[in-house]
Amino acid sequence: MRFLVAGELNLDLILRNYLSFPALGQETLVEDVTLTLGSSSAICAAGLAKLGNFVAFTGKLGVDSWGDMCVESLTRLGVDASRVMRDAGVKTGLTVSITSPRDRAMVTYLGAMATMRAAEISAGGLDGFDHLHVSSIFLQRALRPELPRLLALAHEHGLTTSIDPGFDPEEKWGRDVIDMLADVDVFLPNEVELKGLTGWSDPEQGLRAFENGRTLTVAKLGGDGCAALKGGKLVRVAAFPVQPVDTTGAGDSFNAGFLHAWRRSAPLEDALRFAAACGAISTQGAGGTTTQATEEQANEFLQRR
Ligand code: ADP
Repeated sequence: MRFLVAGELNLDLILRNYLSFPALGQETLVEDVTLTLGSSSAICAAGLAKLGNFVAFTGKLGVDSWGDMCVESLTRLGVDASRVMRDAGVKTGLTVSITSPRDRAMVTYLGAMATMRAAEISAGGLDGFDHLHVSSIFLQRALRPELPRLLALAHEHGLTTSIDPGFDPEEKWGRDVIDMLADVDVFLPNEVELKGLTGWSDPEQGLRAFENGRTLTVAKLGGDGCAALKGGKLVRVAAFPVQPVDTTGAGDSFNAGFLHAWRRSAPLEDALRFAAACGAISTQGAGGTTTQATEEQANEFLQRR
């Protein structure tokens, strides 16, 4: 299968295990530091590539060393980065993640991520792809109002489409997201996003609020697994019991697994189980991309359970 992923691209600066959480006017120390590829879209793209698909990425970066690092990382992960755009007028974005074993605080500079336009994505051509996936729509400020047209265009070119909304840092959410589902085949929110977009904490009620006769919505519920509606009935799949090392990007690897299986016409429950396996396997290593599953590994994992 040939996937086109259009999304945000940034580096993550991860400051791990702080002595005390930083306060204004004070200095604190951390135990470890890593500068690595961030971006929900990139982790999903890498997951799809690891599963054996051809994946091209469209995103925007500045003309700077951080941008070079993003392109190098994508390429190393088996993703075709030839459609990644560089713009000297903007800086590559960065997320600083200040973490402890219990929780983390994140600060993001959007930079180039906020500037990609729909016309720049479609100008690269949609023909030859089977599927278009877009993540983190609240970070992609220029793209968001143009997404309905891009999704419709993808359908006109015979592609199926999916969206992972990602978190809205402004927590405004917005009705436009529900409206744009008219041209979305698979919608992949987590429980926080489901609540933000629908007001429902209960996943079943939240899923029902998205029903539009077209979109298959899959709710990702962390350690509680995932859920979707099939013919109006709730289908729930539990998370596989694993000892997580790092849950960063579990939802993005889950997305990759689900889209991989769904595009191959797997029955809904099988696709959810395959996705949950990909999510669980991805928690077994640090960062979002170090332990993503191959198709064989995901199937072996499923057979053992
Ligand atoms: P997001 O990263 O988008 O918030 P989730 O945390 O819901 O997404 O994770 C997506 C999926 O990954 C879950 O539905 C589950 O199948 C799997 N997963 C996530 N965390 C764990 C965990 N601690 N143990 C086992 N599976 C997990």
